Amino acid sequence: MVRVGRKGVAILGSTGSVGTTALQLVRRFRDRFRVTALAAGKRVAELKDQIDEFGPALVSVADACDARELAASFGEDGPKVVCGNEGLCAVATAAGTDVCLSALVGAVGLEPTLAAIDAGIDVALANKEVMVIGGELVRNRARANGVEVLPVDSEHNAIFQALRGREREYVRRLVLTASGGPFREREAASLVTVTRAEALDHPTWRMGDKITIDSATLMNKGFEVVEARWFFDRDPCEIDVVVHPQSIVHSMVEYCDGSTVAIMAVPDMSIPIGYALTYPELLDLGHLPRLDLARMGTMSFFRPDTDKFPCLRLAYDALRAGGTMPAVANAANEIAVDRFLAEEIGFTDIPRLVEAAMNEHEVATYQSVAELIAADRWARAFTSSQADRCCDRR
Ligand code: MG
Repeated sequence: MVRVGRKGVAILGSTGSVGTTALQLVRRFRDRFRVTALAAGKRVAELKDQIDEFGPALVSVADACDARELAASFGEDGPKVVCGNEGLCAVATAAGTDVCLSALVGAVGLEPTLAAIDAGIDVALANKEVMVIGGELVRNRARANGVEVLPVDSEHNAIFQALRGREREYVRRLVLTASGGPFREREAASLVTVTRAEALDHPTWRMGDKITIDSATLMNKGFEVVEARWFFDRDPCEIDVVVHPQSIVHSMVEYCDGSTVAIMAVPDMSIPIGYALTYPELLDLGHLPRLDLARMGTMSFFRPDTDKFPCLRLAYDALRAGGTMPAVANAANEIAVDRFLAEEIGFTDIPRLVEAAMNEHEVATYQSVAELIAADRWARAFTSSQADRCCDRR
């Protein structure tokens, strides 16, 4: 196998869960990767350490104030420091970048991800909201620019692997696995009293707060159905979800002859991140614990309960409605999750608020990012005002 030089990696969201795991891989495989640019939000102290260790030429932070302070602290020998949405786009398209790891949380990642694609840079996509909001646009621009958009989400990374070497016409169905979150066995009627701490206690994965809440409501899985639709160009009716609490089977592809290919691994994000960064090569991740099925003994699978977790159904509805509807569902969910994390609304208010925004929205087709952003803004404002009413009731 021939490798020419080290791969230049730019990371959007370098201090988050995916970003820090990716940097652990860079640290372990210095002969394979070099860091061109890093973007963080408000965790400036952590970003400083990353700059010291990985020496990117360009970094971005959320606020202009933080950017000035950071630039001053490094002086002339330090990286160029930028900020805001422009800063994110600059990081995504930084000189010498071969792959941009898009690992921000939420709609904020859409424009920088498209910027990388338009610049002809391959994208390793962890920020699933990008695909939820503008999946069709992302797919079409990637095709037009001849760039790869590789899935980092463990389920889609597994499907991507399970599809290799077989014609797409043979595929019957994609099956996404879901851990089921912390409330799989809890009575539906008691979900109304779920606390922030309970919802943040995910049984199998350690992740950021937003995605952990999305996992508890199953909105995360719903968004993954939307993501799968655009990553693999499949109709919603060809995408199923099965609950698998052990999170060992990361997803499956069922073929027309009745065979099913499953990808199994211990739940560690180094595996899908590594594959997305080095595809089609594999990294030697011998340092991870090995999968020991005999020791595990049992794996279980269940149908998801969409009465108890309506977010999964809402995501399918948004996908079928198409156009601007998934962007509205996403924005409403972002606001609702923020308000839940601030302990201003209850757990069961999250699906209620998302459904209210979807019911109120007149779905439209879209041609541009601007139209998606307009739908996103409308849904944020609408959901905020609805959430205020929940606060009043509490
Ligand atoms: Mg996932």
